[in-house]
Amino acid sequence: METGVVDVQPAGPPAAAARLWAGLDGPWQEAFRQAWEALRTGNIAVGACASTADGQIVYAARNRVTDGDGPPGEIFGSSLAHAEMNVLARLPFGHRRDLVLTTTLQPCLQCAGAIRLGPVSTVRFAGHDRYWDGCHDFGKLSAREAQRAQPTRIGPRRDEIGTFATVIFRFSAALISRFRPTLGPGFEQALRPPREDPLTDLVQELEHGGELERLSAMEVNEALGSLWARLQELMEVLPAS
Ligand SMILES: [Zn+2]
Repeated sequence: METGVVDVQPAGPPAAAARLWAGLDGPWQEAFRQAWEALRTGNIAVGACASTADGQIVYAARNRVTDGDGPPGEIFGSSLAHAEMNVLARLPFGHRRDLVLTTTLQPCLQCAGAIRLGPVSTVRFAGHDRYWDGCHDFGKLSAREAQRAQPTRIGPRRDEIGTFATVIFRFSAALISRFRPTLGPGFEQALRPPREDPLTDLVQELEHGGELERLSAMEVNEALGSLWARLQELMEVLPAS
């Protein structure tokens, strides 16, 4: 493979990417639009939405950890300001408990706990975040939790959009360093895995080659198409999770 040149295809999204995008239901598309807005605003690129079982969106939100403002009822400017938290914070107490929570990335420990407490019966997530593997099974914590029904989890997705979700999340360190340089150099390290891997290589290549800026000017479905070939290459070498 040629090195040093980032071959993001300029000719428009391939038909396969357009087909995949068109095949996503409304909540999936909205979650990814939210994630893309987070990316464009220098936040961690994760989006989420709550919907009814038949796909009607109830509320959608994005990560706002670096934002100085946000819609009423959402969290911003805090390490707690994750996309899932901002969806759940807007669902009123006593809401019917059969909602589907769709999020672009595997929920973290905080969000898994909030989902467990929220009116959610099913969680769908696209990207794998190995950092939080195993941090959702509250049935192990106590006899009471073991007896309760835990939300059904569906994910990670094994397709290109699942890989896309993980890749765009990994842009976050560079975005935050660029948008909010006062957060300090330790932040990028905190979001990086401790070792090099093909995912890190791709993310760094796109960042350093200037492609991230070009991608962020696109709509999210266009960016998916632009990265399609690279995502497929990555899927071949990433370990199954
Ligand atoms: Zn979270």
